[in-house]
This record gives sequence, structure tokens and C-alpha cells, in this order.
Amino acid sequence: MIPASFDYVRATSLAHAIGLLQNDPDGSKLVAGGHTLIPTLKLRLASPALLIDIGGVGELKGIEVADRIRIGALTTHAELLASEPLRKVLPIFNQAADLIADPQVRNRGTIGGSLANADPAADWPAVAIAVNAELELAGPGGRRHVAAKDFFVDIMTTALELDEVLVAIHIPRPDPGLQFRYRKIRHPASGYAVVGVAVSLRRRDGTVSQATIGITGATGHAFRADSASAHLTGKPLSSQNIARAAALASEQADCLSDGYASADYRKHLVKTEVARALTSLSDA
Ligand SMILES: Cc1cc2nc3c(=O)[nH]c(=O)nc-3n(C[C@H](O)[C@H](O)[C@H](O)COP(=O)(O)OP(=O)(O)OC[C@H]3O[C@@H](n4cnc5c(N)ncnc54)[C@H](O)[C@@H]3O)c2cc1C
Repeated sequence: MIPASFDYVRATSLAHAIGLLQNDPDGSKLVAGGHTLIPTLKLRLASPALLIDIGGVGELKGIEVADRIRIGALTTHAELLASEPLRKVLPIFNQAADLIADPQVRNRGTIGGSLANADPAADWPAVAIAVNAELELAGPGGRRHVAAKDFFVDIMTTALELDEVLVAIHIPRPDPGLQFRYRKIRHPASGYAVVGVAVSLRRRDGTVSQATIGITGATGHAFRADSASAHLTGKPLSSQNIARAAALASEQADCLSDGYASADYRKHLVKTEVARALTSLSDA
């Protein structure tokens, strides 16, 4: 199909993009990799009057690994997959990027576009929650940071205001010894997560001292499985404790149903995927 007509401006800076958004927040759309937005326009599910291309805005680019880790919103899945400094401190980005779609999508799609779009089946939201990321948003009123666990509000709805831009993802540098795992059941056609589970976990003296579990695909938006984490903390990572944590995560999930997977099946997958992710760390 052919999109409705629109104007197109290539933003030269973050301030330029925000100024354009501010002029007409309802009628404007940012475009990053375009891998979701362009199909949406072609299906006429959206008909913005103005497309603001942020692809040339330098402030939104790059991966910095220092005391904190900063990932610019325009960083592509392929760049996240290829970054050796990032893989060394946060291997979960490599694990997740490797499971996203195919090389074409990975070369164009951006982490910022994925998080801002908040598709219930996207991979990055679970990872951002599991690594306790903060998302940096910029708008006419200045900048603010929102914890990833609070950013995803509903199906394709986030804490972003219409005139705000997601600038970067910030993550505290993990201590050595923190373990990570991302795994998912892929939709066979798109590669999106039917259910995806991201875990960061630390053990001290044989017991779990910290566990954060992000889950995507199952529900209308990615969520943090708090009851599962609370159950694991202070206990050994035994098969019995893993099974109970997985059951608690599944109980917390108010699952979606569609032509591919029923809500009951998704609930089952939350349980099996959380258990598999935790078991793989207990073996490591
Ligand atoms: C065939 C196919 C398979 C895919 N498989 C997977 C998969 O397995 N897993 C997965 O997670 N994803 C998958 N995707 C999605 C893809 O990986 C992209 O992440 C996704 O399309 C969004 O990124 P983008 O850069 O293309 O965003 P765009 O399409 O450019 O934008 C998407 C939305 O986000 C907004 N936006 C973009 N950047 C910003 C920003 N910085 N600040 C505020 N708003 C912004 C736009 O206005 C738009 O509303 C797939 C896509 C396709 C086409």
C-alpha cells in the first residue's frame, strides 16, 4: 500500500527535532530506523502530516562503556550485537540482539525506536528492565530520566510525551559476578518474542543476593517479575526455588491472546522460559 502524503524534515540537532515536534505534537512523527513506522504508514494505521528524521542527530548515537553505560537511542541492533566492550560488561545485549529478526532488520532497527514503540513482543523492553536501565527523555521542558520498569505503560504506550525524544539508555556498570541471560520463544514468521525473559542475577556465598527479571511478549507491556525476584533473594538457586519463582512470574502475568498463542499458552511459556533462564545461570 501507499502512505498518505506527508512532509519530511531531516532534523539537524536534538533541539531542532524537539522544536519541530512542539509545533504540532499530534501531527508529527519521529522516524529512526523506520522498520516499524514505514509499514505502519503504508498500512495507513498512522498518517502524520510531518515525518521528522532523527537519523542524523549525533547526540542520539553511540555506545559508551565507562563507570556508567550509555547507549544512544539511534544505536542499531547490529551495533549492539557487534560491540565487544558492551559484550564484556553486559553480555545480555549481545544475547538479545542476536535473537532479533534477521540482518536487514538488525542493520536498520534501533534500540530507541524499539523502546519508544513499545510493541508488546519486542525484545529490548525486557532487557532494559532486567539491567535496571534509566531512559533519558528530552522535550521542550528539558530532560528527565524514567526507570525502564516504569516506562512501559500499555500496548504501544510509554511514558514519552508526544513532544519528547528518547535520547539514550543509561545503565549502572555491573559488578563483576553479575550474571545475565536473555532467551525467548520466537514467533516463527517475524522473530518477535512470543515470550522473552531477561534475567540479571548475583549470588554470594551460594545464595541469590539480587535478581531482576524482565518479561516481554506475554502481556500488553513488558514488566518486572517482582514476586519471583523476591522469592529467589536470600535462597540458593536450587531447582525447587527456580520452579517456585517461575510459577510466581507466570501468576503475575495477565497474558495476551492472539491467533498464534492463547493466554494460557503464554502463561505456560512464562513459567518454562523463566525456569530455563534461571537454570542456565545455576549451571554457569
Ligand atoms: C520483519 C521484522 C521483524 C522484526 N523482528 C523483531 C524481533 O524479533 N524483535 C524485536 O524486538 N523487534 C523486531 N522488529 C522491530 C525492529 O527491530 C525495530 O526495533 C523496530 O522497528 C523499531 O525501531 P526503528 O528504529 O525501526 O523505529 P521506527 O520505525 O523509526 O520508529 C518506531 C516508533 O518509535 C518512534 N521513535 C523512534 N525513535 C524514537 C526516539 N528516539 N524517541 C522517541 N520516539 C522514537 C517513532 O516515532 C515511531 O512511532 C522487527 C521488525 C520487522 C520489520
